[in-house]
Amino acid sequence: MHMHGQLNMSRCEDPECDSLPFVDEQLYESKASFASCACGAVVRPHIVWFGEQPFYVPDIEQAIQQCDYFIVIGSSGSVYPAAGLVSVIAHRRNRGSNVRSLYVGPEAPNNARLFDEIRLGTACEVIPSLFGE
Ligand SMILES: [Zn+2]
Repeated sequence: MHMHGQLNMSRCEDPECDSLPFVDEQLYESKASFASCACGAVVRPHIVWFGEQPFYVPDIEQAIQQCDYFIVIGSSGSVYPAAGLVSVIAHRRNRGSNVRSLYVGPEAPNNARLFDEIRLGTACEVIPSLFGE
């Protein structure tokens, strides 16, 4: 679930519009060059800007309650609600669950104390080592 959207997709900026996000790899030089939706509104990147509500939050919260292993790759650990997801895992562990959390990134996140394990390095370096050759 892409809670912060996908940069290679666009969508209508009107939240009431029924059109769906679509793959859009065109480079826009300025807002004046943005395409228009069939409804007349401007097409915008299918990403979440600061201050906007992330996508799929209820589905993500449900998955967090049921997962066995929670892996975060490359987060500052300071932008909520994403930064708070690991605290759900820590709470589950405190109540006796065997769930584990792992952070992977070049620097420790601001919420590092909440993770069971921190592996510093790029995703390309660390992730293959998690699964063997
Ligand atoms: Zn539209």
